[in-house]
Amino acid sequence: MKKSYEAGIIGGGIIGATIAYYLAKMGMKNIVLFDKSYYTSGSTGRCGGGIRQQWSTPANVKLGIRSVKLFEQYEKELDFNFDYVQKGYLILAFTDDEVMAFKKNVKMQRSLGLNVNFISKKEAQKIVPFLNTSDILGATYCPTDGLGSPFLSTFGYLKKARELGVETYNYTEILSIKKNKGKYDLKTSKGNVSVKYIVNAAGPWAKDISKMLDYDIPVNPERHQILVTEPLERMVDPMVIDFLHGFYGSQEKNGGFIMGEADPTEPESFKVSSNWKFLESISKKFTYLFPKFKDVKILRQWAGSYTVSPDAQPILGPISKEDENFFLAVGYSGHGFMLAPATGEAIAEWIIHGKPKTTDISHLTMERIEKGLFEQEHNVV
Ligand SMILES: Cc1cc2nc3c(=O)[nH]c(=O)nc-3n(C[C@H](O)[C@H](O)[C@H](O)COP(=O)(O)OP(=O)(O)OC[C@H]3O[C@@H](n4cnc5c(N)ncnc54)[C@H](O)[C@@H]3O)c2cc1C
Repeated sequence: MKKSYEAGIIGGGIIGATIAYYLAKMGMKNIVLFDKSYYTSGSTGRCGGGIRQQWSTPANVKLGIRSVKLFEQYEKELDFNFDYVQKGYLILAFTDDEVMAFKKNVKMQRSLGLNVNFISKKEAQKIVPFLNTSDILGATYCPTDGLGSPFLSTFGYLKKARELGVETYNYTEILSIKKNKGKYDLKTSKGNVSVKYIVNAAGPWAKDISKMLDYDIPVNPERHQILVTEPLERMVDPMVIDFLHGFYGSQEKNGGFIMGEADPTEPESFKVSSNWKFLESISKKFTYLFPKFKDVKILRQWAGSYTVSPDAQPILGPISKEDENFFLAVGYSGHGFMLAPATGEAIAEWIIHGKPKTTDISHLTMERIEKGLFEQEHNVV
């Protein structure tokens, strides 16, 4: 480890990995990335792997569309396979209010260039023949949404970043941060380094990292549980989402159904344990939507943290005017994997060029939170 670096990234999940890669790709030298554990040990390695562009806020839609563009060129650019498939997302509407909101979303999403449609119950049934459509009024469908491996994609970004000169250190914890003559001194569990730019990409621990410089950022961890079934012959292509009952599920590459739920009773905490309540609740939701799969066996369940922001949009960019070189890439609220490429690229541009260029994220800062300029993202499970 050297004594000083241009940029120090805290976090070796998908967000830290993309930022490291894009900084190096854009020509920055002397970059270091730290993780207190193994890479993908945080939320990234607990993620469902869903990649969608159908959001209710224009900012999330733009980030989703750009991320899909970057995911589409990932394999060629990084010479690495991350099991990417584009088999669509089907979002079910059960109520008149949902129909109205979804039609409004589709209009906005289409105006931003997304190939998405509001479709009838009959069309939804055609796309997923095993789906119980008896109670739905329609659905939205975007064929370019998809799935990928959060593990492999992170490893690919880290591998390429290292080839471009980034130093990465796992099992190296950041213990404190002190400002020192326009730079930051990082005390790590393996020695001290000085950096010009810091990126806080610490996922559920982002609040603790910001506290090291006396900032209180409004992001909090919240447990989300998930499970996977035995592999079945391919019968369902898209990810199916049901906001009303709080369910998402899709058939993975190897045939297992991966699924999770929204539990409005879950308190903020670092808890990542699993429980029976989830198994019962998700089994009811799954077999209601897919009655034919009632005998499918569950292979394993686990849980992880969403890092929730006040409006379910990420908080990005400099933490304050006083600490313009302390960047946040936090608060992804359950959609950090799918928004990682676009936000990684934009944060790298912001650091190198003084502003984001490809996707405008300049309004997603802490300042918007301080001024109460929230735009609530509604399409979250
Ligand atoms: C059950 C579940 C399902 C999900 N499904 C999806 C999905 O389908 N699609 C999607 O887009 N998103 C999904 N998400 C959300 C997604 O996992 C996260 O948004 C994303 O992984 C955040 O990545 P990250 O790099 O910010 O955080 P993390 O992966 O948590 O990485 C942060 C890293 O920082 C390190 N760190 C923390 N403190 C320190 C320190 N002091 N010193 C050094 N290192 C430190 C940690 O060890 C950790 O590895 C899901 C999440 C869960 C829990």
